[in-house]
Amino acid sequence: MENSRHSDVLVIGGGPAGSTAACLLAEKGWSVRLLEKARHPRFHIGESLLPKNLPILQRLGVLNAVQRIGMKKNAAEFNSTETPLNRDTFYFARAIDDRHPFAYQVRRSEFDEILFGNCIDKGVAALQGVSVVDVNLDQHGHKSVRALSDTGEALQFTCRYVIDASGRDTFLANKLKAKEKNSRHQMAAIYGHFQGVRRRGGEDAGNISIYWFEHGWIWLIPLQDGVMSVGAVCWPAYLKTRSTALPVFLQQTLQLLPELARRMQSAELLGDVHATGNYSYASSTMLGEGYLLVGDAYAFVDPVFSSGVYLAMQGAADGAELVDKLLLGTEHGGRLIRAYQRKVKRGIAEISWFIYRFNTPVLHRLLMSSDDAQQNKWQGKMKAAVISILSGDVYGNPKVSAPLFLFKMLYYLLSLKNLGETLRFLRFKARAWR
Ligand SMILES: Cc1cc2nc3c(=O)[nH]c(=O)nc-3n(C[C@H](O)[C@H](O)[C@H](O)COP(=O)(O)OP(=O)(O)OC[C@H]3O[C@@H](n4cnc5c(N)ncnc54)[C@H](O)[C@@H]3O)c2cc1C
Repeated sequence: MENSRHSDVLVIGGGPAGSTAACLLAEKGWSVRLLEKARHPRFHIGESLLPKNLPILQRLGVLNAVQRIGMKKNAAEFNSTETPLNRDTFYFARAIDDRHPFAYQVRRSEFDEILFGNCIDKGVAALQGVSVVDVNLDQHGHKSVRALSDTGEALQFTCRYVIDASGRDTFLANKLKAKEKNSRHQMAAIYGHFQGVRRRGGEDAGNISIYWFEHGWIWLIPLQDGVMSVGAVCWPAYLKTRSTALPVFLQQTLQLLPELARRMQSAELLGDVHATGNYSYASSTMLGEGYLLVGDAYAFVDPVFSSGVYLAMQGAADGAELVDKLLLGTEHGGRLIRAYQRKVKRGIAEISWFIYRFNTPVLHRLLMSSDDAQQNKWQGKMKAAVISILSGDVYGNPKVSAPLFLFKMLYYLLSLKNLGETLRFLRFKARAWR
């Protein structure tokens, strides 16, 4: 391994965000170095993609490869035991922009390996098993980056621009002391892979199933090889009641819903059960002189609408465009930076509106309010707007905005009308976060 190297751009982290930014910048002719601390294929959570992710995969030139490892996901299915309608399936084909009627469920070890390999094919100088340990951001012109290989070799790099795509490690946000816990959302997750979980039939076989339950919500994500990714996202107070090993606790939690228990009847756990606590945060800094934070390295809210990978890749793709212009020395740098920041924040805010309210009784009922056959015209439009958000149409499509606004107004009106219930929920949430 060479001990000193210079590149135009150095990307920290070879997950979806890092590989996207690295690939697109290399395609534009910049010299790009990508450093990944793990070695692909490696386990990662975040297996359910959104339809709007597909154009990015196409642009990167990996859509066919992802299709080969992916399970087609036509819809997101919601399940509740507290509403007259117990199950509703939100088909992406009914989104307002219906050009992308499906997405894929992917094993992240395979997906991330495809993206990383694609970077190498595009000319990125990519290294695995190399952790970035320090970055000197103070230098004007060239930044210096210190790294350590998993064989113990100390490495030194220089570059003009650093992109931090280190995911939940939030490398630069930590260094800059810019990481802030999300005060509006505090949940924790336990999850694992199972075989023998009953799937839906036909075209619905690849859909994600989401179940509300008293302690949060549960996901079932069918993967292509027959394995089911199963996870419970819970209030922290519930997780603190755990007195058994994680696998037993997860199995006990899944037994709390009779329909789920039936689907899990012949299920067998494969490998470890993982836990991620307190996962919602954002960095107060998105970029500065010669550096940019993308994907989870900047912010993460919640997995309920499967938006993490899409927001990370879209932010990285837009970030690559921005870095390209900044490296070229555009005179419109300030304007481009402001537009980029607005877009990233808008996408996160649009999804967060739903995430923050997902467990409220009013949104729960609204999402499960009527099946398609019973809907009037406006209910149909509002549902199409919600499906658009679930597809990843989160950057201000004017056709989505009006019905989405109506949906939100309806939510606020119903919350006021049921003020007692709303206040009871807020008090419950305050206790459940402890
Ligand atoms: C419980 C849970 C469930 C989720 N489910 C979904 C889902 O169904 N769908 C979805 O879209 N999203 C989901 N997500 C979110 C998703 O996992 C992330 O949003 C997504 O992986 C972000 O991609 P990224 O490239 O920013 O970060 P990552 O995928 O985390 O990649 C970061 C990479 O950087 C590397 N790295 C870290 N530090 C260093 C360093 N110092 N030097 C070199 N390399 C480094 C890491 O090894 C890693 O490979 C979920 C998240 C959680 C917590």
